[in-house]
Amino acid sequence: MKVCVQIRSLFAGAAAMVTVLAATGVCAAPAQHPLADEQALDLAKKAIALRSVAGPGNQTPKVAELYSAALVKGGFAPSDVTITPDGDTAYLIARWPGLDPALKPIVISGHMDVVEAKPSDWKRDPFKPVVENGYLFGRGATDMKLDGTIAIASLIELKREGFKPRRTIIIEFSGDEETAMKTSAAIADKLSNADLVLNIDGGGGVLNEQTGAPEYFTWQGAEKTYADFQLTVTNPGGHSSEPRSTNAIDELATALLRIHDYQFKPETNDLTRTYFNEAAKYEDPATGAAMKAFAANPADAKAIATLTANPATIGKIGTTCVVTMISGGHALNALPQKAEANINCRIFPGHPRSAIMAELQTVANDPAVQFKDVTEGSVATAASPVRPDFTAAVKTAMAGVYPNVPIFPSMASGASDSMWFRYHDVPSYGASPVFIKESEDFSHGLDERTPISTIAPAIDYYLALLPLLTK
Ligand SMILES: [Zn+2]
Repeated sequence: MKVCVQIRSLFAGAAAMVTVLAATGVCAAPAQHPLADEQALDLAKKAIALRSVAGPGNQTPKVAELYSAALVKGGFAPSDVTITPDGDTAYLIARWPGLDPALKPIVISGHMDVVEAKPSDWKRDPFKPVVENGYLFGRGATDMKLDGTIAIASLIELKREGFKPRRTIIIEFSGDEETAMKTSAAIADKLSNADLVLNIDGGGGVLNEQTGAPEYFTWQGAEKTYADFQLTVTNPGGHSSEPRSTNAIDELATALLRIHDYQFKPETNDLTRTYFNEAAKYEDPATGAAMKAFAANPADAKAIATLTANPATIGKIGTTCVVTMISGGHALNALPQKAEANINCRIFPGHPRSAIMAELQTVANDPAVQFKDVTEGSVATAASPVRPDFTAAVKTAMAGVYPNVPIFPSMASGASDSMWFRYHDVPSYGASPVFIKESEDFSHGLDERTPISTIAPAIDYYLALLPLLTK
């Protein structure tokens, strides 16, 4: 039989209670913070209705106004909340001054922009939020307007309960995380004195596909580095009836095939080893066995073959590079004077882009192929160190809402705002408390949705986590 017990919540003087489960299984927690739960959903709906997509009509500045108004109404001093316009977008930084100004602040990091969504492709209008069958639907429901408003509602709830942080809390939202990341870089420049960043656009919980029960929670401590390399071959060209020994398209194609056949040396770090050992339990037997074998020995050829064949795992075992664009020639009856291709790489943490480009040049093995680093909006970063104070706080906060749910670190394959903070040597951890089924993650895709049952425990998580991180 399941037994739910209530304990005092973790910070002094709080009236809030958190529900924990004393036996096995999952306990449906009664709503402990109904005002915060309601505000998170209400704000998320309002934010989704604002089409914060880069380009003409970008309503990201309106989202900033929405969040700013909520924070001020919730007790933030108006002078502590700033919106900075930047082109068609804007970013928001809000400060909650701590009792001890000598302590470095913690930063809660999110973004307000979303990826384009075409209403004609969706079953529902992506910019008309709707709750159906327990899910909030709309562009940004998962990435990441609901995540953002849960954090805002949690901070306001902490204020409502009279909590006073010793360490300053800063919540910030970038305005172009999905595109140029100019505001992301600007924010990290301004907040490079932070003690730690909680990136609420990364990590998260996984629900069991069959039962919907929380299965495990991962926090992200590293991400791969994005890079684009342009390959160019030029040739004097000439009449196609008079072929020469060299042809720009042939030379480029040969280099591309060599790169296709090349595998960067598989590797691990502390985060990925832990991830593989833990995640192996939730995979099919063949993938799980390969994960464990690879974590034990990154040179295990059989494990490498299995993980390389799987698009979900190939990116976790090393650097990958793939051709994404190609162009060449100028007339049907002329020898090509130019052929060009773009190689897109996702670099394992710890390698500079220049080293990967040099490796590709060696693989291409043809001096006629010119290489150029044309990467925009990305910097190379190492993994954040595993900070015991952070992992302990997450463990305690998670145990309060989802007892017995395993917690382990992971590495993101894509880029996030954490990159800009790690570039300044500020540890950044993706640790969103939103739980979702892997099969229902439609971030950037069609019919994006998030179960609203995730809201109440997510707020409980922040109410436990933030006091621990700001002691
Ligand atoms: Zn995002």
